[in-house]
Amino acid sequence: MDSLLEPVSAHSTATTPVNVTVTGAGGNIAYSLLWRIAAGEVWGPQQKVNLTLLEIPDAVRVAEGVAMELADSAFPLINTLNVTDDQTRAFDGTNAAFLVGAKPRGKGESREDLLSANGRIFTAQGEALNRGAASDVRVLVVGNPANTNAYIASKSAPDIAPERFNAMMRLDHNRAASLLAKKLDVPVGDLDGLVVWGNHSDTQFPDIEFLRAAQHQVGDQIDRDWYVGEFIGRVAKRGAEIIDVRGSSSAASAASAAIDHMRDWVQGTGGRWTTVAMPSTGEYGVDKGLVFGFPTVGVNGRWSVVEGLELAEFQRERIDRNIAALREEAAVADSLF
Ligand code: NDP
Repeated sequence: MDSLLEPVSAHSTATTPVNVTVTGAGGNIAYSLLWRIAAGEVWGPQQKVNLTLLEIPDAVRVAEGVAMELADSAFPLINTLNVTDDQTRAFDGTNAAFLVGAKPRGKGESREDLLSANGRIFTAQGEALNRGAASDVRVLVVGNPANTNAYIASKSAPDIAPERFNAMMRLDHNRAASLLAKKLDVPVGDLDGLVVWGNHSDTQFPDIEFLRAAQHQVGDQIDRDWYVGEFIGRVAKRGAEIIDVRGSSSAASAASAAIDHMRDWVQGTGGRWTTVAMPSTGEYGVDKGLVFGFPTVGVNGRWSVVEGLELAEFQRERIDRNIAALREEAAVADSLF
């Protein structure tokens, strides 16, 4: 089922519109994410976008409703707006794909069941991207288990360079930055040198050893017991904390992190560190191909992992725990497909 809404604005700009695909377009995260893309928060206030919303057949009507609301928002930057349940069409010519849709863990389902169900989705999407995506495509996987879903999608797209597949760990990074800014009583924008190593899961390692505030090292100002005993676990479990307090999931902050990630990928970070989960090329002893959260800077439209950091035993042990977990997930994925 396909539908094409009339372009919101009849006028095109001098530049070619960017083709953007969002999957899971009828879901909670997309309901926030789409508005911020349409407002120009990734490519800037002059850059038009062709937006394609992908949903599964059962939810495509919901996505149609979302598209109606987007049209009603009269964003001048939306050049075209499509809703489809056809993956081939959705990814044809795409320059940026936000892979948000994923199957949540059902009652009584094991992690293997979850990997298997999502493996099928991300294999098919990787293949569709491989067939049709633009050569400069950037793929950001948000749907969980994000790192291994990105691993599967990348493996299913052999003609697309692996570094064009990222998994989102920016929300973990932003959560860690926010807690640290509060602890240090500094503006969050003053912080740099933060990284959340590894997997977007309970093993993730928010690391403050290189933390700077207004360019000064501040990691040693942070109480070690708070850091090890409270902070690390709290960052990992922040999603559950939000559900407990708000009564529903952290969709708006997830969408915000997805915007941050894609904007920084496109526009760069001006030398500031962020966390990007991307296929390893062997950095810090991480197996080649595993999609791992690294300290990263964005330069000229590409990510560059911050290399050469000296790691203490405590850091090495936490990073190794993430390598082991992702190695296991990859082995399950490899055995399934
Ligand atoms: P959300 O939009 O809330 O979440 C989508 C995915 O993002 C989930 O895998 C979720 O993981 C993950 N996620 C990552 N970070 C966060 C965070 N901080 N807070 C919440 N979620 C986070 O899910 P909905 O169920 O509202 O919507 C999903 C949509 O995707 C549905 O409309 C469904 O029809 C669609 N879908 C599309 C597919 C496709 O395009 N092929 C395939 C499967 C589903 P977690 O589950 O761990 O919360």
